[in-house]
Amino acid sequence: MKTLWTPWRMGYILGEKGEGCLLCTKQQAPRERDRENYILYRGATCYIMLNLFPYTNGHLMIVPYRHVARLERLDDRSLYDMMALTRASVAALTQALSPAGFNIGMNLGKAAGAGIVQHLHLHVVPRWRGDVNFMSVLGETRLIPEALDATYEKLLPILNALLGGEG
Ligand SMILES: [Zn+2]
Repeated sequence: MKTLWTPWRMGYILGEKGEGCLLCTKQQAPRERDRENYILYRGATCYIMLNLFPYTNGHLMIVPYRHVARLERLDDRSLYDMMALTRASVAALTQALSPAGFNIGMNLGKAAGAGIVQHLHLHVVPRWRGDVNFMSVLGETRLIPEALDATYEKLLPILNALLGGEG
């Protein structure tokens, strides 16, 4: 990839925004609202946020700023950053929550179960033995927002230490 990294060009490169797209809306919101939007980290081409409807505790998503549905339309830099942020997320989740394993992947297309079809994103789902039953119980209660806040506060300093963010 011969393209020089020029942040001032990002407005052009990332110019394609989805009207009414949740993932674009979150990314365009002011940084002061990152906490209420559960955005953990903003990188050069991708950001990390907690999934608001988590499959397990600590379920987060790596989201390219670029509004594309198809993986083959994502540029090299975004692809690289997405995987680097996945690596950092796995490290942070391991440190914060000691999961027994991870599911990592994308649902591309409605047939594959994508919730937000038009803006691809990568799920990082920490797993524990028996967690499916645990979460189906949790999902029926108001415990989820509290769990999200607690997870956010745990992960934020670890991720920023790992990635050198400003917090
Ligand atoms: Zn979008």
